[in-house]
Parts: sequence; C-alpha cells; structure tokens
Amino acid sequence: MGKTRVYKLATELGISNKELISELVSLGYPVKNRMSTVDIDEVFKIRETIIAKLKEAEKKDIKPKPATQISETVAVEPKPHPDKAVETETVLKETTAETEEALEVIEIRENITLKEFAEKTKCTPNELMKSLIKKGVMATINSPIDERIAKVSEHIFKKSFKFIPLEADEIFDDILEEEENADDYVPRPPVVTIMGHVDHGKTTLLDAIRESKITEKEAGGITQHIGAYEISHEKGPVVFLDTPGHEAFTAMRARGAQVTDIVILVVAADDGLMPQTIEAIHHARAGNVPIVVAINKIDKPNVNIEKIKKDLTEHDLAPEEWGGQTIFAEVSAKNKIGLDNLMEMILLQTEIMELKGNPKVKGRGTIIESKLDKRRGAVATLIVQKGVLKNGDSFVAGSTYGKIRALLNDKGTKIKNAEISSPVEIIGLSSVPAAGDSFIVVNNEKEARHIATARQQKLKETFLKRSVTRITLEDLRNQIDEGKIEELNVVIKADVDGSVQAISDSLLKIGSDEVRIKIIHSSVGGVTESDVLLAEASNAVIIGFHVRPTEQAATLAGNEKVEMKLYSVIYDVINDFKAALEGLLKPRLVEKRLGRVEVRQVISIPRAGVVCGSYVLDGNIKRNSDARLVRDSVVIYEGKIASLRRFKDDVKEVQSGFECGVVLENFQDIKQGDIIETYYFEEIARKL
Ligand code: GDP
Repeated sequence: MGKTRVYKLATELGISNKELISELVSLGYPVKNRMSTVDIDEVFKIRETIIAKLKEAEKKDIKPKPATQISETVAVEPKPHPDKAVETETVLKETTAETEEALEVIEIRENITLKEFAEKTKCTPNELMKSLIKKGVMATINSPIDERIAKVSEHIFKKSFKFIPLEADEIFDDILEEEENADDYVPRPPVVTIMGHVDHGKTTLLDAIRESKITEKEAGGITQHIGAYEISHEKGPVVFLDTPGHEAFTAMRARGAQVTDIVILVVAADDGLMPQTIEAIHHARAGNVPIVVAINKIDKPNVNIEKIKKDLTEHDLAPEEWGGQTIFAEVSAKNKIGLDNLMEMILLQTEIMELKGNPKVKGRGTIIESKLDKRRGAVATLIVQKGVLKNGDSFVAGSTYGKIRALLNDKGTKIKNAEISSPVEIIGLSSVPAAGDSFIVVNNEKEARHIATARQQKLKETFLKRSVTRITLEDLRNQIDEGKIEELNVVIKADVDGSVQAISDSLLKIGSDEVRIKIIHSSVGGVTESDVLLAEASNAVIIGFHVRPTEQAATLAGNEKVEMKLYSVIYDVINDFKAALEGLLKPRLVEKRLGRVEVRQVISIPRAGVVCGSYVLDGNIKRNSDARLVRDSVVIYEGKIASLRRFKDDVKEVQSGFECGVVLENFQDIKQGDIIETYYFEEIARKL
C-alpha cells in the first residue's frame, strides 16, 4: 500500500506540519513528526475531515487577518458535483457584479501554477492554499490555476481575474520560446554519427571505440545497447549514435530532428570511394553537418591513402595539408590503431564548431530509439539537447507523454540528472514515441497530457493535409510566386553515369534568378528508400531516368507524398522542369500501375519466340497493355504485352496469385527473376 509523508500532506492542505500532526493525532493516527507517514488510502478521508474542520473554524472566526491581505468575507461553497457548478457560478457572478467597479482586473493565463498565481496576488502560496481549502478547493503549490480556482480567488482577493484559457499549442510555444540568456550557454560534447560504404568498417569502428574505453574503465563491463553511448576522452566526452549509416541519419532529419553534430565518414583504405561513400557525403551535406574523414583498414597491405584524399578533394573534402578544411584521421578499427587520434580530431572539430548548449532552461531532447519492454513498459533513449533532465520531470515526447520514473545511462546505471548531449534511457512513458520525436519537459503531468492529446489530434490533421507541404512540379510556380522556395532540390537516379551527368548539367542550366536548381544527390541505380528519405528530409523531387523505385521506395514515396518523376527521354526531363519553373506544365499523363509480374521461367518456343512463364505478384496483367521489363531496378525494355496465356488458352487478363505465359512485343532478352510492370496512362489536368 502506498504512503505519503506528513509534511507533503501539510503542504497540500496549506497548514503547518504542527497543525496537521495535532489534527492527525486527535483523529487517532500514530504520527510523530513531519517525516511520519500515512497510508494513501487514508489521505482522502483525512483531507475531507480536515477541510470540514477548517471551515467550521472559519465560521467561528470573525477576526479578519490583516497580515495576509486576504479577505474571507464571501463564503463560497465547495463544488461537490459538476451539476452544481452552474449554480455556484451564478451565485458568484451575482456577488461579483455588485463590486465589479471596485475590482482590479488581472489577467491570468491558464496553466500558471498556484505558486506563480500567488506571486501575482502578492501573498504566499501557503496562505493562498489555505484560503482555497477553506473555500473547498484543493490545490497544491504546483497545481495549475483553472477557471474555478480563479473564480473562487476573486472572492478571496476582492480582485477580478480575467481567465484566459490556453490552446495546447500556445502552452507549447510558451515552453519552446522560453527566454534564454546568452551567458548561460556552456560548451557541450559533440554527438557523432558514423557513415560510409558497406563493409568499410563502420560497425567495427563503433565497437572498437566503445570497447577501448570500457575495458579501461570497467574491466569486463557490458554496455547496454541504448542507441548511443558516451566515451570519455581526456580532452572531453564524445557521444556516438549507435546506428551507423545514412538511412538512420536521414530518417531522423526527415522527421525534423537534427541530432548529429559531426559525421565520421569511414572510407576503407583498400577500397577507396564507393557509391555509398558519395551518398553519405550528400546526406551529410544536405543536413549541413560537417564531415571528419576516417580512413580505415590502414593495417592492410597495398593501400593508397593519397589517392583517397585526392578523390575526396573532388567532392570538396580536401585535407588541411592540401589547403582544405576537412579533418582526416587514419585508423585501423580491427587492430585498434589511431582511435585516440580520431577522438582528438573529433574534439578538434567540436572546438572549431564551438558547440554549446543551455543547461538553465527546461529539459529538451530528441528520441533516438524506443521500444516496449515487457518488464518496464515503454522505454526510450534520447539525447538531451537543452536543460537538465531530472527524475520526476513531466514531459511530452511526440504525441505521447509521461513523467520520468527512472533515468539510466548507457551503462545501465541509474542516474539522477542527465545533462546536455548525454544519451539517456528513460522509463515512465505512457506509450512508445518514434525515433526523431522531440522530447520536451513541461510544467506538470496534466499539461503534458493536454499537449500530447492536442498533438495527436494535430498529427491526424496534418497527415491528411500533408500533400500541400511537399513540393511538386505542378505547384512549383505557385510556390515560387509565394516566395516559399528559392531553391528546387532534386535527387537524380539513372541507369548510367552518362545520363546522370547529362541530366545534372542540363538542369543546372535551366535555373532562373528566382529559383536555383540544386542537386542534392545523384547516382547510378534504382530509386531506393534512402533516396526517398533524403528527398523527404530536404523537400526534394526525385528524378528517375531509365530506373524504377524499389517496392519499399515506391511505398514510402506514396505515403510521404514525395514526388518521384520517372523518365525515359532526357528531353522530357528538361522540358518538364522548364515548364514547371515557368508555370506552364501541360496536362500531364500520369502513369497508373496495373500490376507486377515475376518471370519464373524463360521458355524458347520455335515461331512463338520467348515465352515468360510468369507469376502475377500483385494487381493484374492485361493483353495489349503497356509494359516494361525491369531487372535490378533498371528498365531494360518498354513496349507492350503481345500475348497472354493461361495454360494453352489465350486470355484477356490474369489476376494476382495466378501463373501465366507472357510474350513481350519485339523483345526476347528475358531472364529469370525479371519483373514485368504493366500500366496505362491517365491524363490529369494541371491545377492552378
Ligand atoms: P560496415 O558494413 O561498414 O559496418 O563494416 P564492418 O564493420 O561490418 O566491417 C566489414 C569487414 O571489414 C569486417 O570483416 C571487419 O572485420 C573488417 N574490418 C573492419 N575494420 C577493419 C580494419 O581496420 N582492418 C581490417 N583489416 N579489416 C577491418
């Protein structure tokens, strides 16, 4: 059974400990001092009894209390039931009306606490609580002032309070716009994400850095996986996000969260710059995050570090010794060589950036990982970005909320406070927030719940309205005219490097004074989820030339309303973009997908040609419909379905889940595993 301390109850009731103890003793509770406890279940009864006694005493008490400036001449009955509320309020209105003119009007906003309210009315919180209790209103020092308390207080203070209810968003803005003092800012540790091509050693490097420190400090210690960890170096701590790769980085950005201060670009010395190395550079750049290069695997024979530096220079990452500004470190994650130097280089970059944070404001951070734990309920890891988090803090995280019941560091140790940049696991959430959600400490749990509910509602609304915020070619001109955009970000994916170059060059030429076309990423290959995330995070349009999106990428783009334009003629790309810039897009032909068919067997039949023994994965396939053949996301053929059969019969249509024989018009270079997409065009008028 839960218990509460006498002093807490006394504060809540607004009477002294001594008074409460004597009351409790007279009621038969065995309490001795302020630290004695009473069962929670009894508290209700005690409250009622004491309130009744206080009121009784008040009736007999005819002497006013000059010291407190509190007038208690108007007795207001408690509000025992909502039905009675109207009645009470009418009485209140009538009584106040008489003295209205004499009353001073003070504006009070919903959600200021009783303490703040007391300050406004120039009395002590204790006096105010006591007076409120006498009027039958229970309030503690941290209670938010609601309309009822405001009304009752009018009679206590003989003042008129104009109660201004707040929208959840306003409360939130208040918190977000908390005044800050520039002098309060202090240096803070950097938060680092490791990126680079697959197999270049990202995971090994993360592990090596972590192990090198753990074994030193706590032999045999196991770190918890909480999504991030902190390493202490003699020159200062560094926080590493545990999810390497640009997907995680950009997914967070797509959600509006910027957690990473520095990107470590891992390049394997024996492999050099690879497609994902370049992709990582583009992702980091799109997020405006500086890059520190870590050349890894220097233990390997036949490595050419100079060549890597030269290649990186072409991507504007020139080392300092060559007159550039990029910090380089050479390491071997496997043999743990150069790790200390890498840490120093990170801290050097931190110094250059003068990373600072304000510990004196309300706690704030970003969720980087969350899960539902069988034992502990909803658990989340966050990086603190402002203030100091403390046990007991009420908070809003995305559209969920809670009260911090425990703070754990990356070693799984319970801590009291979490400071800026620390990764910390928290327990006490009402449900699981999403990675990238903002975490904000608010005044109390009620406020937290209020904001979270309002946010849920808002989230639903914005989800429905989302299309308007994304950039589309159709709407481009309007957005330029409204001054909403000055740069049109594009991601270009094509089947060969020549096309990537040709499209990039032509697009860069068609930009105007009003709007510049900015290519934030371009590479060879199909459109991936990572491309869509990047486009989403940077509000970009994706151009696919002779390539297709993967299923996941297409779904993500659809859900997030990211515009993806697929072309097979360069002239069309340029024309479309020109027309969009000028606001002259013709009615567009929108491709509507019919279905997807997988080639499972390739059969050569004399005279009939090559027949694809196929299976309809989704949608359907129709005879004579338009079709394209896709191999590894690259379009190999575009044309028509020449013949369609089920067993020996010609059929008009085959639905998903069935097998069929397909012949493509004038095309025979088919391989097992190829995908046939069928589609038709629908004309959509341009909206103004
Ligand atoms: P990731 O895909 O970038 O996370 O790469 P991993 O960390 O999984 O490493 C890929 C492979 O490279 C593994 O077999 C590692 O053991 C190896 N590797 C990583 N770092 C080094 C290194 O410094 N030297 C050598 N020789 N091998 C390494």
